Amino acid sequence: MAWNKHEEGREKIMNLLYQSTRGGEKGLTASQAILKGLSDDGGLFMPVEIPVLDIPVEKLAAMTYQETAYEVMKRYFTDFTEEELKGCISRAYDEKFDTEEIAVLSKAGGDYFLELYHGSTIAFKDMALSILPHLMTISARKNGVENEIVILAATSGDTGKAAMAGFADVPGTRIIVFYPKGGVSRIQELQMVTQKGENTAVVAIHGNFDDAQTGVKKIFGDQEFGKRLAEKGYQLSSANSINIGRLIPQVAYYVYAYAKLVGNGELQQGEPLNVTVPTGNFGNILAAYFAREMGIPIGRLICASNDNKVLYDFFTTGTYDRNRPFILTSSPSMDILVSSNLERLIYLSTGCDGEKTAGLMKELADTGKYTVTDAMRQRMKEFWGGYADETENEETIRDLFVKHGYLIDTHTGVAAAVSGKYRKESGDHGKMLIVSTASPYKFSGSVLKAITGKAPENGESEFDVVDELARVSGMAVPKAVEEIRTAPIRHTAECDVADMEKQVAGILGC
Ligand SMILES: *Cc1c(COP(=O)(O)O)cnc(C)c1O
Repeated sequence: MAWNKHEEGREKIMNLLYQSTRGGEKGLTASQAILKGLSDDGGLFMPVEIPVLDIPVEKLAAMTYQETAYEVMKRYFTDFTEEELKGCISRAYDEKFDTEEIAVLSKAGGDYFLELYHGSTIAFKDMALSILPHLMTISARKNGVENEIVILAATSGDTGKAAMAGFADVPGTRIIVFYPKGGVSRIQELQMVTQKGENTAVVAIHGNFDDAQTGVKKIFGDQEFGKRLAEKGYQLSSANSINIGRLIPQVAYYVYAYAKLVGNGELQQGEPLNVTVPTGNFGNILAAYFAREMGIPIGRLICASNDNKVLYDFFTTGTYDRNRPFILTSSPSMDILVSSNLERLIYLSTGCDGEKTAGLMKELADTGKYTVTDAMRQRMKEFWGGYADETENEETIRDLFVKHGYLIDTHTGVAAAVSGKYRKESGDHGKMLIVSTASPYKFSGSVLKAITGKAPENGESEFDVVDELARVSGMAVPKAVEEIRTAPIRHTAECDVADMEKQVAGILGC
């Protein structure tokens, strides 16, 4: 058994191992779990325990983002050396971000907004996807993998671009992204189809995000196809938030935000901080839960949904039911009916019972729904589900802008609206952190409509809308948007959901 020396207090901590939420695979190291992405039994990898962050908050408050990230990640990725982890961190959180703070805290209307959109693709996915390629290439080296790693990603708009930006021209890797045609914003689509890098491919599918995600999971599960790829020297992995290598880096910004708020006197030490997260695949809010379990005094975890309110229904009734129409909203990155990472919470709420979790997931696959027990619900009581419709979202964005001069995007708008509902319904007026997941410019048309009441005219170019938003808001247009104004379109492939595997085979030439 490997032991790592622990700097604080010099006590020894064990090598933290990972197991599947469905009980079929156990005893993997962090690097093995990162490489695999998804377990062979279809489950998600979880550490056998959530480590404690035994560092006094005043010490955390003095740390940079990179130092905080290291303290969090070294407790999970225990088979990485200090040099390897610090190397990954410094290559990920560098000048690609437009601010040295990496994650920015702003105060508006009495709430704190944690801006996670200062990376190269202006959405919070950059927080994890700028480090995942580095974690993955080191994991491959550690495990003697000589195959080329092929990243398959389904995207509701932001993951695809952030993953390609991270993996573009990384030696030993290829990346193929599937997005729902017509299901992402125009800026999101342009960002993806103009992506550079000889190892990148983008395919629009005729279906919605859930179709794309299910299709990708199916390709992962096809053992025959896996063998064919291996013969050609390829090995599949995942950059979706099911990969533990995406979840853990996200824990860092909750630790960082709490410590900074204590450091600058906004919070008393130990004072609970409620957190509202605009939620889709349940990765971001689960990272907040991990931070809480590590010892950060996070109070309630408020899970904000748009009109696709499957999680709101789940937290209010105990039944998860995906049998409903899929609604396209102005917050497309949250247009999801199957929230993959919820499986990790389900697993924890069963007391880490793989068999029980596998049973519920089988029910979900067979019937589209399942119901959890009262005991399980009791274990999730820190979570509060809420949702906001399009009108509430627009009103919230307008209000914040008009009254406080603060501009947010449509996903953050959902979160801000739901945090207001939470305060009203619960009577809990504790301090609130609202997670801001995208730059308003990524959704220029919807944001402009929210603050001016006017929808962009038919045929108006996306960049006219961007310029109009800049004029009205006074907020500078980010570099990521300027870059795609003139960038040539490099990717035009489209396919039916049933042909996704064929597409992959074609792209890889096998
Ligand atoms: C991905 C995304 C979300 C949802 O995050 P999950 O971790 O999938 O719950 C919310 N907002 C934006 C802008 C996103 O890109």
